[in-house]
Amino acid sequence: DNTPPHLPIAPSPHLPIAPSPHLPTSLQGTPASPGIAIAPCFRYRKTPITWEQTTSREQPPHYHVEDTTEEWQRLQTALHTAQQEIQTLLSHSSIQIGDAEAAIFDAHLLFLADPTLLEAAQQRIFTQHLNAEAVWQGVINEVASNYRRLDDPYLQERIADVVDVGQRVLRVLSGTPMTIVDVPQPAILVAADLTPSDTASLDPTRILGICITAGSATSHTAILARSLGIPAIVGLPPEILQLADGTQLAIDGETGRVWVEPEPETLVALRTQRDAQQANRQQTRTIAHQPGMTRDRHQISVFANVSSINDTQQAVNFGAEGVGLLRTEFLYLNRTTAPTEEEQLEVYQAIAQILDHRPLIIRTLDVGGDKSISYLGVGLESNPFLGWRGIRFCLDRPHVLKTQLRAILRASFRHEIKIMFPMITTVAEIQAAKAILAEVQGELHQAGVPFDEAMQIGIMVEVPSAVTIADHLAREVDFFSIGTNDLSQYVMAADRTNPKVAKLADALHPAVLRMIQQTVEAGHAAGIWVGLCGEIAADPLAAPILLGLGLDEVSLSPQAIPAFKGAIAQLTMPQAQAIVTTALQQDSAAKVREILNDDLHLI
Ligand code: PEP
Ligand code: MG
Repeated sequence: DNTPPHLPIAPSPHLPIAPSPHLPTSLQGTPASPGIAIAPCFRYRKTPITWEQTTSREQPPHYHVEDTTEEWQRLQTALHTAQQEIQTLLSHSSIQIGDAEAAIFDAHLLFLADPTLLEAAQQRIFTQHLNAEAVWQGVINEVASNYRRLDDPYLQERIADVVDVGQRVLRVLSGTPMTIVDVPQPAILVAADLTPSDTASLDPTRILGICITAGSATSHTAILARSLGIPAIVGLPPEILQLADGTQLAIDGETGRVWVEPEPETLVALRTQRDAQQANRQQTRTIAHQPGMTRDRHQISVFANVSSINDTQQAVNFGAEGVGLLRTEFLYLNRTTAPTEEEQLEVYQAIAQILDHRPLIIRTLDVGGDKSISYLGVGLESNPFLGWRGIRFCLDRPHVLKTQLRAILRASFRHEIKIMFPMITTVAEIQAAKAILAEVQGELHQAGVPFDEAMQIGIMVEVPSAVTIADHLAREVDFFSIGTNDLSQYVMAADRTNPKVAKLADALHPAVLRMIQQTVEAGHAAGIWVGLCGEIAADPLAAPILLGLGLDEVSLSPQAIPAFKGAIAQLTMPQAQAIVTTALQQDSAAKVREILNDDLHLI
């Protein structure tokens, strides 16, 4: 199929003006993105790329070229333009949808830079004297049919991405401009298929629902629709494509059902359900932008875990009151030398700027464990999680730490920044880290470089020894942040990356919960605040426990913030404390989860 992405909806001349008398009253597809939408439908048809030099006008031209060098150059220019388009789409998606979803377009970029693919194309131009369009289409078709042959469900899903990227390049070669999918009025979009690129640029205020005959719930198109909050149904029978534009539809993305010109009573019921869903979502959104608070007005700071500038923007959009964990490893990944002080300063400042007056906790480099950065020379270890990791590495390579500390301190001038050291196991380690920090502060003073003199210093509590000597450690710092991802794996002796045992490392196991309780008590006894930044905070089930354990702050992935704030808004502190008391008496994570599930139903 030679159709380009991003073409406007044009009512087709072949469609009937009025609904056909044989219209089905309801259709069943595969649910792909939840929610109810009621609106007229509009059929999206991709206008084929029109080729000037070819008789069929639908197939790319196929001709002999003399100047192969020029032809190869032409293809490279088209690839470059396509890359720029994808880059724009990627930036748009990471801000509007999220970094995880935008990574789909990272894969598109990687595909266009794949040396095997490029070599194959180049070789064909030079040896067969074929034009760029014909060669490119040939190469793309082969990749797609290889994926098809390989009976791997994951690769089957990725065919849509290959075709998407392939068509983009063909469209650029044809000189057809890029357009985006739009509708004349808010509508449910009906189409044979939508590419991931089409879907990422949809405007959810105009496209109220998506019905397609192709696709599956795990396709990138479905993932993007879910992130955009657009109800979607895929795998619908082809009859849906026969509907006239403007036909009233109701769709339920949860069940996969489509009603065609629904009866008045069906409409009333669906509208009520839709309005309730929307009110619910609106309420969650409103709560998300208010301070995290229980029903009896006990406040807990709800911060975000981030690893990039884009994540931070997302975090603010989702109602984060600050950043509780900036994983700085991202600055060191995918490169061959460590980032300079200036490079780091720029990123820290950009993140602080987005946060405005909200606090930003920057964690110093936590290399090692499952995060290998080859140029730092950590090397292969037989037990990387018990090895040269986090602060252990940084204390042995003080120049790496000093560069980072200088950047953090410089960024702290006029910004609400705190420093956090990872993997602290002994008192000597935090004292050594603080000595290096004092050294850097002295140097900055000497040089007259301003920084926040009162900046708070904290540690991650993620090693069991840190829990048991938390009273000593608390005297050294201004705050604790409990890292349950590591704490669980170390307490339960279960590698968090090994699927055979990872389930053992459940932060809701009473063994871990007791460790959290002990840390909070030691911190509070010493007069410092205690937060938690492990993944467990993103599980809405855990909210009552974290609250009841007396944490002052939690830091979680941005997307999970609205649900967390929503969950604690329904609780009182005494209720949460009662749940903790019961949970701590259980003998397994499964029983704790059972109690939490029951309580969730009672609230
Ligand atoms: C943790 O260990 O819980 C944590 C938040 O840090 P990371 O996942 O980066 O090790
Ligand atoms: Mg950790």
